[in-house]
Amino acid sequence: MTRFAYVNGRYETQRSASVSIEDRGYQFADGVYEVIALWNSCPIDLLGHMDRLERSMAEVKFPNPPSRTALKVIAQELVRLNRMGTGILYVQINRGAAPRNHPFPGDHINCSVVMTVRHGLGPSATEFQDGVGLKVEEDLRWLRRDIKTIGLLPNVLTKQAAKSVGAFEALLVNPDGTVTEASTANIWLVGADGILVTRPLGPEVLGGITRARVMALAKDAGRKVREATFTLDEVLSAREVFLTGTTTFVLPVSKIDETLISNGYPGEVACDLRDRYLTFLNSHNKETSWYVG
Ligand code: PLP
Repeated sequence: MTRFAYVNGRYETQRSASVSIEDRGYQFADGVYEVIALWNSCPIDLLGHMDRLERSMAEVKFPNPPSRTALKVIAQELVRLNRMGTGILYVQINRGAAPRNHPFPGDHINCSVVMTVRHGLGPSATEFQDGVGLKVEEDLRWLRRDIKTIGLLPNVLTKQAAKSVGAFEALLVNPDGTVTEASTANIWLVGADGILVTRPLGPEVLGGITRARVMALAKDAGRKVREATFTLDEVLSAREVFLTGTTTFVLPVSKIDETLISNGYPGEVACDLRDRYLTFLNSHNKETSWYVG
């Protein structure tokens, strides 16, 4: 089936869609993005994604960011054109196209806006049921990981390092020995006291939309959550470890390098939250899920 993309005001077939070679996204990775889950044609946590996108655009000082209402209309049309059921919506906004020069090109340049979709979403049934393995890697990224920029080379390199040894994800560790997150997901542990722990928000991690949602679901279920930094040793000796992310949902971790977590099986808390998250996905409907404030 032909796939349609949106590029700077036009809906085009994905094959023919293109951007300028002077686009600053291409030249400088001067752009930000969002990946939004579509579940039964409903966007998941759209409001949270729009909030984060606006924040990213403000942090990198785009002078004319597109409005969330305009972005929503484009997204709805793309979902319709592509007959999207379950998959992802990718939104990328760059500072625009201008002759290559490091300083901002000026307020007269409009942002470039690209949206694409892809069918299919979520971990495989085996990954969900058996849990996944992680490979420990040094966190090589810049100091503003809270901004969701398209400058993802460290994420690419660490994810590839994980893949090359058959692991699902890279577990990123700062030079100070504290764990930050995974290359495309946030990380959580369950301590011996049963309390869930994840790194506090700040410049060292991306504020995951799924992280926030799972935190709310866990608290609703009566679980205690603590936001704190933790070391690799603490992760390796945790009762349970799991990942959260738009494309990973809640995913139990059963192995980190050669160390088995929860004896190599998905933990009870992770499985419970995984199921609660699936219930949350199924609770969406087309009338309310497009609300952007
Ligand atoms: N951390 C990083 C580095 C990510 O790239 C992502 C998602 O792509 C996440 C965390 C999870 O964020 P979200 O739940 O918003 O998908």
